[in-house]
Amino acid sequence: MDALPGTYALMLQADRRQTVQVGRLGQLAVEPGCYVYVGSALGPGGVRARVGHHSRLATRPHWHIDYLRRTATLRHVWYSYDSVHREHAWADIFARMPGTSIPLLGFGASDCACPAHLYFFPRQPRLDTFRRRLRATIPNHSRVDRVSPKEIARLV
Ligand SMILES: [Zn+2]
Repeated sequence: MDALPGTYALMLQADRRQTVQVGRLGQLAVEPGCYVYVGSALGPGGVRARVGHHSRLATRPHWHIDYLRRTATLRHVWYSYDSVHREHAWADIFARMPGTSIPLLGFGASDCACPAHLYFFPRQPRLDTFRRRLRATIPNHSRVDRVSPKEIARLV
C-alpha cells in the first residue's frame, strides 16, 4: 500500500448488538455482521495515511466512521489507486449488492448525493463480485486490491 491518492472500503466486523452515537448525525443501531465503509484519500499521504488512521482507534473522533470503528473490528481493506473521486461509484455498487441495507442515512455522506457511505451486510461481500460489478460500471477502473490489518500494521 503506497502513499498515493485512491479509494478504499473498510470491512468492519461487529460481534454484538449495541447503539453507537455518531456525533451529531444520530444513533446507529449496530447489529452483528459486516459494515462496509467507503471513502477516498486524495490528499497528502494518500490511501496509506488514511488507512493507517482507520487501523487505529481515534481518541478524538473526526469522521462518522471513527465512532463505529471503536466498537467494530477491522477485517480487511479494499483499495485502488486513482486520483479521481470513485467513492460515490463504489458506494452505489455496495448499495446494489444483494443482502445490503443502509444502517444510518447520511453516514459518511455529508457532502455528496449518496444516501450513505456505510452499508451493512449479514456476511462480508465477496471481492470478486465487487470487482466484476465495478468493471461493468467503470470499464477503465484501476485494480482493486485487499489487505489485512496485519499487513497494514507493517506498512503504516
Ligand atoms: Zn457519495
